[in-house]
Amino acid sequence: MRVSWAAATHPGARRLTNEDSYCARPDLGLFVVADGMGGHVGGEIASRLAVEAVETFIHDTHTDTNRTWPIPYDPERSPDANRLNAAFVLANRRLGDEVGRDRSLRGMATTASAILLRLPAIIVGHVGDSRVYRFRDGTLERITRDHSWVEEQVRAGILTDRAAREHPWRNVVTRALGGGADPDVDIIMLSAKQGDRLLLCSDGLSSVLIDDRIRSALHSEWSLQVLCEQLVSLANAEGGPDNVTVVTVQIDAS
Ligand code: CA
Repeated sequence: MRVSWAAATHPGARRLTNEDSYCARPDLGLFVVADGMGGHVGGEIASRLAVEAVETFIHDTHTDTNRTWPIPYDPERSPDANRLNAAFVLANRRLGDEVGRDRSLRGMATTASAILLRLPAIIVGHVGDSRVYRFRDGTLERITRDHSWVEEQVRAGILTDRAAREHPWRNVVTRALGGGADPDVDIIMLSAKQGDRLLLCSDGLSSVLIDDRIRSALHSEWSLQVLCEQLVSLANAEGGPDNVTVVTVQIDAS
């Protein structure tokens, strides 16, 4: 597998703390972005714990994919799709355990969007309103569907994309990892093509930049690192109302 990648994260122009977390583990084929929420320190802890839990499970099952899993195996899904789903379920349980230990963390939760590369297959796992995009041959495709109140209104034809970005409830997510019942994780299977670029981002990017501006940036000749930093700068130039995290992965050879 040959990929290049880069990442950038920033608290934004109006916040002092950064409640987003990410991980980039090209050795495991794993890239994750998580956007935490919950007052005090909860948001930072939630996103960090979720990323660590996903990373740990993917690491532990990297060579030992036959180990007995603590959650049921779905024979209709590929082993790697099962791995990513299990990683998300375990991350949710990890957050529940932490809240059980420290009641001051009650209410903390996080989104999580991940890609697991098994080229030419790419497995996407997703809960919440962080996004995964694929840029291919000049076209940007949104791979994930936001689990958010405004997205439901857009799908029902009640709000436009633009109105959704400006709506006061734009941050309200309808699914998150935060303990409680096992989450319903969206698992999406993609196939990679040489030259594809994948973008994972928190809503600090996608709530202020329309898809066409993201597409233009991905279409540029910038290096991946400059691309990530430019995307963060563009979000901050739009007021930077929220923490911004971007991870880009380019398929150099599939
Ligand atoms: Ca956010």
